[in-house]
Amino acid sequence: MSHHHHRILLVTYPAQGHINPALQFAKRLISMGAHVTLPITLHLYRRLILLNPSITTISNLSITPFSDGYNDGFIAITNTDADFHQYTSQFNTRGSDFITNLILSAKQESKPFTCLLYTIIIPWAPRVARGFNLRSAKLWIEPATVFDILYYYFHGYSNHINNQNQNQNQTTIELPGLPFTLSPRDIPSFLFTSNPSVLSFVFPYFQQDFHELDVETNPIILVNTFEALEPEALRAVDTHHNLKMIPIGPLIPSDTSFSGDLLQPSNDYIEWLNSKSKSSVVYVSFGSYFVLSERQTEEIASALLNCGFSFLWVMREKEEELKFKDELEKKGKIVKWCSQVEVLSHSSLGCFLTHCGWNSTLESLVSGVPLVAFPQWTDQKTNAKLIEDVWKIGVRVDDKVDEDGIVGGNEIKKCLEEVMGRGEKGEELRKNAMKWKGLAREAGKEGGPAEKNLRKFLDDILENACMDAAKN
Ligand code: UDP
Repeated sequence: MSHHHHRILLVTYPAQGHINPALQFAKRLISMGAHVTLPITLHLYRRLILLNPSITTISNLSITPFSDGYNDGFIAITNTDADFHQYTSQFNTRGSDFITNLILSAKQESKPFTCLLYTIIIPWAPRVARGFNLRSAKLWIEPATVFDILYYYFHGYSNHINNQNQNQNQTTIELPGLPFTLSPRDIPSFLFTSNPSVLSFVFPYFQQDFHELDVETNPIILVNTFEALEPEALRAVDTHHNLKMIPIGPLIPSDTSFSGDLLQPSNDYIEWLNSKSKSSVVYVSFGSYFVLSERQTEEIASALLNCGFSFLWVMREKEEELKFKDELEKKGKIVKWCSQVEVLSHSSLGCFLTHCGWNSTLESLVSGVPLVAFPQWTDQKTNAKLIEDVWKIGVRVDDKVDEDGIVGGNEIKKCLEEVMGRGEKGEELRKNAMKWKGLAREAGKEGGPAEKNLRKFLDDILENACMDAAKN
């Protein structure tokens, strides 16, 4: 069946780590003949089109701005939890109203949407879809394993998970269908009710996300992962709970046409990388959101200075107030933002010191770059476990040494040396990284499983929509 009649409303949370996979997903959908409407908050819309003007000229993509009431932006990390809830409540109300109107006017223009696809922590999106009897599916932009953990947590396992966290002796968490055990440090930190962590403010929104799935009859979860990467996790909950997880990843840019940068990349780092020898550079980034404490920034800086590798470090403005910045700039390069996919595929890259955000993890995997995993919160903890123990493409820093949670320079240096080194460990990690690179490319190639799965999903939806129309 052709997809010329698919008109898709794709709803995403306004953050870089959500917009990036959403845009790559839109690209796939469009290449399959669909038209995609992507609502985005006005603040981010302005930045997006300023930095990526060509995005407005892509045919069959309508990026539609709406105000969330915060046209100068809202940064959760520098605000209180109460501010976050106030922001979210505005965003939820205005977002629901906006997409309700989009659905209504599309109908009036006789170009109705065929389905609504939505990412995470926007429980209002499937609710609006249900109100219109519009088919919907979730685009899960974290690994399947994290979906399973949260699913189990919200379906009877919250005590088990919380108790194991408090239990001093026995600290293994076993969940049905997952082929490995987890320890509390592998679990998204906001799930632990006894020690509220940073970002625990997202907890109620994940809870509502999973509640929404319970209300659906046969929910479909399109997962930004691929079969070989998480074969068991993709099946762990689905058969018993009437939900279907379909791997459609990796959603990684193959060119710059759908770039969603929200910050201006610095301009001379590629020349700098070009001047370095093969596999000699450490790339350091903690994603688009997290801000390192001053002490932690200094420990990383001292690790980099002491181990002597060249490095490219993406630093937040606040982190730049560093004592030995001059010294750092002699040995490495500090940038405010870069085109990360381009950096990771550069031949001078030797390793990525990462916070293990899911996009960063997948981008690294697709480029075959081994990792030093330094997770901070949420899914990053689970991603670090998968990186170190399951896919064996990186070394995780030991974060139990200091009671403030600061990881010392020596520990970071040790990990960097292990990954960059020519020893057995380094060789093994590089070999595994190359293996996963091959498998990731195989999954994402033209006509490959990701494309086939998505095509089948779109066909099924259209078929059902035709049946609905025939019934009415
Ligand atoms: N990113 C980038 N340039 C940078 C830093 C990050 O393009 O200098 C991109 C990166 O490629 C990834 C996204 O920002 O696609 C970060 O997403 P991730 O899930 O890794 O972490 P988050 O920002 O959500 O914590």
